[in-house]
Amino acid sequence: MNRRNFLKTAALGAMAAASPISFSAFGEPTRQGFRPGRLNLVFEPYELKLRHAFNLAKSSRTTTPDVQVRIEMDGLVGYGEASMPPYLGESVESVTKFLSSLDLSQFTDPFRIEDIHQYMESVAPDNRAAKASVDIALHDLTGKIMGQPWYKIWGLDPAKAPSTSYTIGIDKADVVRQKVDEADPYNVLKVKMGLDNDRELVEIIRSKTDRPICVDANQGWSDKEKALEMCHWLADRNCLFVEQPMPKEMIDETAWLRERSPLPIIADEFFQRLPDVRRAAGAYDGINIKLMKSTGLHEAYQMAVLARALGMKVMVGCMTETSCAVTAAAQIAPLVDWADLDGNLLIANDLFDGLKIVDGKVTIPDRPGIGVVPLA
Ligand code: MG
Repeated sequence: MNRRNFLKTAALGAMAAASPISFSAFGEPTRQGFRPGRLNLVFEPYELKLRHAFNLAKSSRTTTPDVQVRIEMDGLVGYGEASMPPYLGESVESVTKFLSSLDLSQFTDPFRIEDIHQYMESVAPDNRAAKASVDIALHDLTGKIMGQPWYKIWGLDPAKAPSTSYTIGIDKADVVRQKVDEADPYNVLKVKMGLDNDRELVEIIRSKTDRPICVDANQGWSDKEKALEMCHWLADRNCLFVEQPMPKEMIDETAWLRERSPLPIIADEFFQRLPDVRRAAGAYDGINIKLMKSTGLHEAYQMAVLARALGMKVMVGCMTETSCAVTAAAQIAPLVDWADLDGNLLIANDLFDGLKIVDGKVTIPDRPGIGVVPLA
C-alpha cells in the first residue's frame, strides 16, 4: 500500500473501528488485532526525501528514515510520527520492533498519557523517537476528542510563537548563496558549522543579508579558546546564540565558554530528557527541545516549564520530519524564546497540511489535536 492510501484508509479504518469488521480487510500497514473501544496502533515506514543534501559537521545524507503512526479509537484517528536521523541511533527496524512490542489495546482511555508513557518505559528504555510517535498520536487523538488544539488546552497565546529560523547547511559557496535566496521569507537564518570554512560561510551569508543568524556547531568545536574566539566574532555579526558549540562530553569546557561568551550557549546533543534540564543548567544558558528526543509533547511541555522556572532560555527544534511532528512541536512554541521549526520545509514529500510560516513567524493552525490534516 502506498503512503497516500495509508492515510486515506484512516477514514475507512475509523469506520471499521466502530464496527466488528476486521481491519485486515484493508491489508497492510502493520496492525495488531483491532479492538473497538480500545486504542489501536497502526504504523508504516516512510522515507523522507530531502530537498538538499543535509551536511553536518560529522555526516551528510539525502534521505531520513521515518515511521508514520496512527492511533485509532471509536471513529477518531490521531496521527503521529517517528523521524530517525542516523546519529540518534534509532532506525526503521528499531522503531517498528518497539511499536510491534506494544499492546495499546489494554488501554480504553487515551487521556491516560502519563500511564501510557510509564508503560512504554517498562517495555524498553531509550527508543525515544518511537515513544514520541505514540505520544504525538495520543495528543492528536485526545485534542480531537476535546475539540481543541493543545496550545489552547495548555492556556497558551499562539500570537506569542516566535519567528522560526531557516537552516543553511554546510555547502559549497554557490549552493549557500542559493539557499540564502530561498530563505528570503524567514526572519532568522540558522547556520550549520563545525568545519574549516565556518567564517567563510558566514561571510557569504553576510554578503547577501544582514538578517540575524543563529549558529549550530553540532559539537564541531573541540578547542575552548577557539570556540570563545568564534563566539566573539559571531557576536559582531548579528548572531543570536550558539547551539552545541563543543562535544557534549566536554561539560567543564562548555561551562568555561558559557561564563565568557557574549552569546547564549544552547544545549542540543547534550540534552535529551527531562532530568537533563537540571544538568544543562550548570553549563548552558538554554536548551533545544525536540520531540524525537523528549519522547513527545508530554515531556516537552514539562521541559519548557522547568527550564523557564530555572531562568533558562528555551528553544524548540525538530528533525527533518513531515508537518505532522513539526506542527505537534509548534504547540509549545508560545513558551519558547526561539523556534527552529523548518524540518517539513526541508523535505520534498510532506504528507500533511499543518503549521504555516507567516511573515517568518510560526503560525499554529486553529484545529483540534496537533492541528494537521493529511494531504489529499
Ligand atoms: Mg542542533
